Amino acid sequence: MLDLLDVHTHTIASVHAYSTLREMITAAKEKGLSLIGISDHGPKMPGAFHEFYFCNFKVIQRDAYGIDLVMGVELNILDFSGSTDLRQDLLDRMDYAIASLHDPCIRPGTREQNTCALINAMKNPKVKIIGHPDNPYYPVDFDALAQAAKENKVLLECNNSSYTPGGSRQGSRELAGELLQACQKHGTMVILGSDAHIDLDVGNHTHAQELIKKYQFPEELVINSQPERFKTWIKD
Ligand SMILES: [Zn+2]
Ligand SMILES: [Zn+2]
Repeated sequence: MLDLLDVHTHTIASVHAYSTLREMITAAKEKGLSLIGISDHGPKMPGAFHEFYFCNFKVIQRDAYGIDLVMGVELNILDFSGSTDLRQDLLDRMDYAIASLHDPCIRPGTREQNTCALINAMKNPKVKIIGHPDNPYYPVDFDALAQAAKENKVLLECNNSSYTPGGSRQGSRELAGELLQACQKHGTMVILGSDAHIDLDVGNHTHAQELIKKYQFPEELVINSQPERFKTWIKD
């Protein structure tokens, strides 16, 4: 499968990540990607930068690096009504946002509550991707999630880091089939994301690709081969 983009990546601005913006961009170019997105953690993640970090993306020249560059954030969902940790006026200045459930920021609820949290987060027009929705720590109703994602024009992520043996969201691999099945049923688009916390991992979708293949998920529902479509998608 043609895989030309990776928009779930972290720089040293996430504090528990180890490469600079330039190093991440260089790695993406070396790997032959045509689009890279930087999505550092929102301010409620312990150690993450102050919201000031997110208010000055205008100085980052998107067309200066010889590769398409988009600047976003991985928001922390804070409650079951889908509130997130950046002010809307800051969000509105960004190219895109991923919204995710992270254990330092929200305790798991019931399946229904977790599903509500993700679906409500999708209602924010800046949220274009739900990060690692198949984390077993936050059980969700994949059918309802895939249907809502389709309706709200949000991509559901196959997060490579979640599927990596020894990674931090063990058990995700076992749930990926259910996620993909629901997406196929509703015609919901997915996106493969590396969740790279170091330059070497940029564009690494090895495990996610394996699962796409294993479950015979239709390639036309994976946006990674369509960078132009992704650019339009986030502007919509
Ligand atoms: Zn995350
Ligand atoms: Zn991440």
